[in-house]
Amino acid sequence: MEIDFNSSGHIVGIDLGTTNSLVAFMDLTGPRIIPGADGDKLVPSVVSIGLGGEVVVGNPARELLITQPERTVYSVKRLMGRGLEDVKDELKLFPFRVKPESEAGSESVIQLDLGDRNYTPPEISAMVLRQLKQNAEDYFGVAVDKAVITVPAYFNDAQRQATKDAGRIAGLEVLRLVNEPTAAALAYGLDKRENGIVAVYDLGGGTFDISILKLHDGIFEVLATNGDTHLGGDDIDNLLLRIALEDVASEWGEDLSQDSEGVQRLRRAVIQAKERLSFVPAATIELEYHGKKYQREINLELFDKLIAPIVERTLGPCRDCIKDAGVGVDQIDEVVMVGGSTRIPRVRSAVEKLFRSKPHTELNPDEVVALGAAVQAAILSGAVDDKLLQEIDRLVQKQVQPMRTTIASANYRRVAAAALARRLIARLFAEAAGR
Ligand code: ADP
Ligand code: MG
Repeated sequence: MEIDFNSSGHIVGIDLGTTNSLVAFMDLTGPRIIPGADGDKLVPSVVSIGLGGEVVVGNPARELLITQPERTVYSVKRLMGRGLEDVKDELKLFPFRVKPESEAGSESVIQLDLGDRNYTPPEISAMVLRQLKQNAEDYFGVAVDKAVITVPAYFNDAQRQATKDAGRIAGLEVLRLVNEPTAAALAYGLDKRENGIVAVYDLGGGTFDISILKLHDGIFEVLATNGDTHLGGDDIDNLLLRIALEDVASEWGEDLSQDSEGVQRLRRAVIQAKERLSFVPAATIELEYHGKKYQREINLELFDKLIAPIVERTLGPCRDCIKDAGVGVDQIDEVVMVGGSTRIPRVRSAVEKLFRSKPHTELNPDEVVALGAAVQAAILSGAVDDKLLQEIDRLVQKQVQPMRTTIASANYRRVAAAALARRLIARLFAEAAGR
């Protein structure tokens, strides 16, 4: 059967990531990611502004990192809600020009000079959000104007406000900001535990976050967070890239490192090989460039050895976080893996060893935050009174399709019940009005 979630409008859940962003929604089959027109679920958080001010977002913008780096913005999340002083070190890494702009009565906000005019970080993030909104609207065929957006647990008020501003600029009413680790826990339905301690290990493209959450009566409290703002899959890419560049230099007698297109192509090849290595025991880095061919097989054993120091760098912050949370490792009931880089087997085993329990990896780690945001969105949209909910719950239980995962089924049922309740109420009103 079909339950129509339209009655309250589609409220989407959005993971506005440093590297990738996603939009998700929830129906009776559970939360699911909405793909873009190109079929990709992940929208790279990259924005390029053309000479005429035209905006390119996602995969095509990422391509433009090579040809127009000074007009193409990535990792803008690092600049959200920050003053120039906060991000001095970051700025060295960006090819685009950044300048402060004093606003009357407030501290300086950052402006990105992208040729035709200056843009604030929330304006750039809004372009990513607008793309996600568009993807959702194309998918549903109706307007989408409400969202739940996730933010890192450590985001301060200014960073949270900047994220809300981005939503507003994109034409989205941000019903709630949810902490990323909380969203991940929600996606796994861990709020159904009632009580417990949950660790969320998030290794993405350029950042590492570890959070310890305490759950009481279905509410998550952040006990402690830690991490490294410059640690993630990018470091692994750089490491493999360096090796490949050396190979190419000795095999072709050519220094490719000064050729930005060549480097970008090789980087792409390295990332492909790295991502495959999470599933197969050996993968080949392959490049064909200017009529020449480069091939290098990397097996898992070598890969594990190469990345060991990177994996090790995540463990210190984990230990500190556990200490700051004031809990013992054995008190941690669940460990959740988040971020594309946690697909790497070596990362999983290191985390399992440290926390002495098998982490949750059933859901796609790069989708789990967006999925949790969709769960939160559905809970918000289905806010109806408890007694009615119980009543409807009985009705719905009979009808709901077998759930994809049992852990989250209670959540789905609640939401499905709420949606059905809304529909029944709407029908009653319509009937009453018609009479
Ligand atoms: P963020 O939260 O930082 O926006 P993601 O969670 O999407 O980013 O993680 C992106 C990172 O995950 C990239 O470095 C990407 O190469 C890496 N990644 C994605 N899939 C895999 C995989 N199968 N194996 C290893 N790393 C992966
Ligand atoms: Mg992320």
